[in-house]
Amino acid sequence: MGRFTLVIHGGAGTILKSDMTPELEQAYAQALGEGLEAGYGVLEEGGSAINAVKAAIVILEDNILFNAARGSVFTKKGLQEMDAAIMDGSTLAAGAITGVRNVRNPIELAMEVMRNSNHVFLSGKGAGDYAIKQGIKLEPDEYFFSQFRYNQWRAIRDSDTYSLDHTHQELEELMKDKKFGTVGAVACDQQGNIAAATSTGGMTNKKYGRIGDSPIIGAGTYANNKTCGISCTGHGEMFIRTVAAHTVSCLMEFKGYTLQQACEDVVLQRLVEIKGEGGMIGVDKDGNHAMVFNSAGMYRAFRSSDGSSDIAIYS
Ligand code: ASP
Repeated sequence: MGRFTLVIHGGAGTILKSDMTPELEQAYAQALGEGLEAGYGVLEEGGSAINAVKAAIVILEDNILFNAARGSVFTKKGLQEMDAAIMDGSTLAAGAITGVRNVRNPIELAMEVMRNSNHVFLSGKGAGDYAIKQGIKLEPDEYFFSQFRYNQWRAIRDSDTYSLDHTHQELEELMKDKKFGTVGAVACDQQGNIAAATSTGGMTNKKYGRIGDSPIIGAGTYANNKTCGISCTGHGEMFIRTVAAHTVSCLMEFKGYTLQQACEDVVLQRLVEIKGEGGMIGVDKDGNHAMVFNSAGMYRAFRSSDGSSDIAIYS
């Protein structure tokens, strides 16, 4: 039995201690702790990495603090359209969905796509039809609504701007209402199998069916037993352009980098060069973990079978 590890994130961005209240910090720490325990519990019982990352993501999706499923940001048209992806590093099987509405847990739908659809990536209405056919749980619009996200969208809906769910000008209001963050999880199980998953509402005021990095295999989400599992968060366009998650894997496979070195290369150099703000979490097959970001903060947590664990927000 090897070392097993779970790592999660709840989004990266302009997250400053000076803007936080103790109550808000506590709420985030608790939410991250719940996600961590749900996923780590699966690993501890000998469960698979893929089931562990899914279990962690479901808990985070259900929490209105995060920009994923319930609490997702609004599009230009005032809708909530969600993206998610999951990947099993032991088989390179993957499932992803984009632009789905009313699906309670987009990660469940991504898992269903991976396991039963014969496809990897479904979008929009087709993905919704598939959810209905497979009996995936749906919820009415009200379930996903949060006043804060709505206000955040209203402030920029008449402009051409789109934004991360935690931009500076929104920060004060955002802190008051205690919500932000795409969510992600990566795990290495007792057998050394690796998995990764990411779920998001994307960026506020997105339009024309904009798709971020989160559901794109290799950009925001990637897992391969040979190298690592990665889940990203940040300005998705730059993570797509750097093929961020897969580049980490390539640096490990072809250049012999450690997980930490490879994550730093992508996040602190390649992304910075094109002004790509954000971060990523990773695990390797030996249960090592990385949590690297170039923004002021990233909601993050990990727990490993060697007894180490941490929940952190700032740099
Ligand atoms: N990466 C996500 C996107 O671009 C947003 C985020 O991580 O908050 O859709």
